[in-house]
Amino acid sequence: MSTLAEREHAVYMPVFKRQPLVLVRGEGCYVWDDEDRKYLDLVAGIAVNVLGHCHPALVKAIADQARVLLHVSSLYYSVPQVEFAERLTRVTGMDHVFFGNSGAEANEAAIKLARKYGKLHKGGSYEIITAVQSFHGRTIATLAATGQEKYQRPFSPLPPGFVHVPYNDFAALQQAVSAATVAVMLEPVQGEGGIHPATAEYLQAVRALCLERDLLLIFDEVQSGIGRTGTFLAAQGYGVVPDIVTLAKGLCGGLPCGAVLARGKASCFEAGDHGSTQGGNPLACAAGIATMQAILDEHLMENASSMGSYFLSGLETLQTSHHNVAAVRGRGLMLGLDLVHDGAAGLVAAARQRGLLVNNTGPRTIRMVPPLILTRDQVDAALETLDVVLGEL
Ligand code: PLP
Repeated sequence: MSTLAEREHAVYMPVFKRQPLVLVRGEGCYVWDDEDRKYLDLVAGIAVNVLGHCHPALVKAIADQARVLLHVSSLYYSVPQVEFAERLTRVTGMDHVFFGNSGAEANEAAIKLARKYGKLHKGGSYEIITAVQSFHGRTIATLAATGQEKYQRPFSPLPPGFVHVPYNDFAALQQAVSAATVAVMLEPVQGEGGIHPATAEYLQAVRALCLERDLLLIFDEVQSGIGRTGTFLAAQGYGVVPDIVTLAKGLCGGLPCGAVLARGKASCFEAGDHGSTQGGNPLACAAGIATMQAILDEHLMENASSMGSYFLSGLETLQTSHHNVAAVRGRGLMLGLDLVHDGAAGLVAAARQRGLLVNNTGPRTIRMVPPLILTRDQVDAALETLDVVLGEL
């Protein structure tokens, strides 16, 4: 009889380097495999399961909505969509939202907004400055926005209109601005690029520059948003207000959903400019409302902040006791650890064998983006396992 992996290889496009693990159920910060082995999950579906697995309030909201209405298309109004939009605009301070199904789709919409703004207000300028080592998605335009050549190479030519500058380097960004520039698009904390937080000075200087030169500031908060860094948007923790912000991943607690939010003149879509058949359907929006409510009720932004600091100080201690750790960093529950050598895949495998799920964003970098419900005991358990596997590496 063939294994699930063999069956998958036969029918699924081979784009993923999967761990040899079949996950069959989850509860809170834990998942179980098909042999009933339990794992502490610090990957959380790559920053998606913000409430952990199968949170009762989220499961109930999904089940209740599924019994009533799953989908109606954008031809009609739906109550959960309006309610979710009201909540999201209120918490982010943006004027309007549009719902899609993924982060890439949200960023596509942000790029379209910027291009339309350029046509309306800046004589047709359309160039967007993004950062080296950024990640904005896998569609053709978001690949062009992504500042990592390895993702782009097989798919050239990519659409023009994107310029990449080193991250956290204000002078480089300032120099890249030209008459063709319409926007700057940044992750406040780079995720796929290896968990690199921006400095507050950098983001504040970029904000001021954008105001001075009439450029839109777009924050891609697909990974850093939804409370992960201690505030609903990471931007809020930096005291910076973008013109456009994108969200996805944890937005609906585990159901596919993406959102682009915009304010003022940046919110320039008109009837016919954009659309999505299933984006923001009643099921996703009911899940989104329940996710936001649980984040508030359970003080999960505060928890992300305090558990993040606690976890980071534990990682700093590991760095002092293990010479194979080159650096640790993070903001809230977005944490990264660099090894001095290309051993990250080995560390991921060793941790997995000891019941801990972490992920590597590159040959040397480990990423941890756990559920926001993570407890102190779970942080201690994770640090203990990391201590052992770092010692064995
Ligand atoms: N933007 C950022 C910052 C991301 O981290 C990701 C995914 O990792 C994306 C966009 C793309 O999101 P999705 O995979 O939902 O299209």
